[in-house]
Amino acid sequence: MLITSASYLISSPDIEKCPSPDRPEYAFIGRSNVGKSSLINMICLKQNLAKTSSTPGKTQLINHFEIASEKRAEGTTASRGFAKWYIVDLPGFGFAKVSLSKRKQWEKMIEEYLRKRPNLMNVFVVIDSRHEPQKIDIGFVNKLGAWQVPFCLVFTKADKESQRIVSQHVKGFLQALKATWQFLPQHFVTSSIKRLGRENILTYISQLNDEFMEIESKRK
Ligand code: GDP
Repeated sequence: MLITSASYLISSPDIEKCPSPDRPEYAFIGRSNVGKSSLINMICLKQNLAKTSSTPGKTQLINHFEIASEKRAEGTTASRGFAKWYIVDLPGFGFAKVSLSKRKQWEKMIEEYLRKRPNLMNVFVVIDSRHEPQKIDIGFVNKLGAWQVPFCLVFTKADKESQRIVSQHVKGFLQALKATWQFLPQHFVTSSIKRLGRENILTYISQLNDEFMEIESKRK
């Protein structure tokens, strides 16, 4: 899949203000500084699309980006279809500098969005591959499970540590999930600097785009 255009659309304070759910949507969420903005920029091959290193917790909004893509077999020019979809950049969780009441308000907004957004095909939970499994990430993943929200894991910054350490941390995370999960989620290992993992994520999104179209055509 080739991304033919990617641009910022709108920031919404809650689900009611979000754009009409007329196309598949993919949300990205993770702790501050985990590499989420860099990942979105890398996926879209656009350097300043999502803001990197913004003040933690400052932008507590649901940020929509409009993406257009084209399916084309490797090395050919013949198109096999076009798609329009949304990327959503959700504010980072687990920041300390925000008051408890603000955090509660944010958590409520995010929970409502994740549980009610009808076109949300998948949540990409972004995790820093340099660290051992963190309780806050595991806790969030377990919440998604309880809410029956489809998700996968993206481990970032794989260029920063040796492959051995990265795979140890990935295995550790999946192992920790085994305590509560019968089936383990799909996961991707990425580096924004090396563009590692990009193709796999795009293939995954492309499959889900097809699924969305199928569901839509059956509904009509
Ligand atoms: P966000 O707060 O989750 O959106 O994180 P950012 O995308 O702003 O990244 C936080 C910091 O990590 C920045 O200094 C980035 O340059 C750096 N970073 C993000 N992704 C990578 C990566 O894949 N490799 C390396 N080496 N650094 C990264």
